[in-house]
Amino acid sequence: MDADHLSNRLATVASYVPKGSRLADIGTDHAYLPVNLLKRGLIAGGVAGEVVRGPFENAAHEIQREGLTDRLTARLANGLKAIEPADQIDTVVIAGMGGTLITQILTQDFDRLAGVKRLILQPNVGEMVVRRFLMTHGFQLVTEEILAEDGHTYEVLVADRADQPETYNDEELRFGPYLLQEHSAIFIAKWQRELARTQAVRKQVQQAAVVPEDKVAQLTAEIQEIEEVLHRVSA
Ligand code: SAM
Repeated sequence: MDADHLSNRLATVASYVPKGSRLADIGTDHAYLPVNLLKRGLIAGGVAGEVVRGPFENAAHEIQREGLTDRLTARLANGLKAIEPADQIDTVVIAGMGGTLITQILTQDFDRLAGVKRLILQPNVGEMVVRRFLMTHGFQLVTEEILAEDGHTYEVLVADRADQPETYNDEELRFGPYLLQEHSAIFIAKWQRELARTQAVRKQVQQAAVVPEDKVAQLTAEIQEIEEVLHRVSA
């Protein structure tokens, strides 16, 4: 992969960046995403934020090599601290991390999102905490996409600023309100794997010398929930 050849995962994320945006890509690594969008004339400019020096230097080098330093700035900073008011960022991407870390980054410096209208988040795991964050912090999910690449399944969550985001129940938060409607083969395969994994964990827990009944009950509830959803979407 490079800035001219994004993975399907990053290309999907890129496809939800509104044309002409001022973008902050937080945890940018090589800055392939913003460099790609800028080279194609799809964003006006922005910031490539990285907290680790090695990837930050990769990003800075990539931006310089492509001659984009006048419109795209690499910043060594923790999370949203990479964003300054003068950047006039309106769109933020955080991709390729766990949902808990994404949520921590967004919560830590929430005030820095003041001018941001769209969040495009791609948690590798822990999508539920991300959806809950959006719902409780004034962002309405507008679309979700699920894709498979290189043996992994990824979800891309797109949310826009809203006065009163829709309230979702636990099932919608866990599985995704849009993905639940779609019945895609990738979604079904993901939850079949998750069902098998949860069943295996329950079996193991049940073999303990002292069986933790609370844990068994919790796993049983999860298994039932997944089975119900799979039954509905496979029907
Ligand atoms: N976003 C790219 C992608 O989706 O391909 C890179 C994903 S890479 C797995 C995660 C990157 O996030 C790493 O380069 C890591 O250093 C960076 N990162 C982790 N925590 C961060 C934070 N708090 N602030 C900024 N960057 C962070």
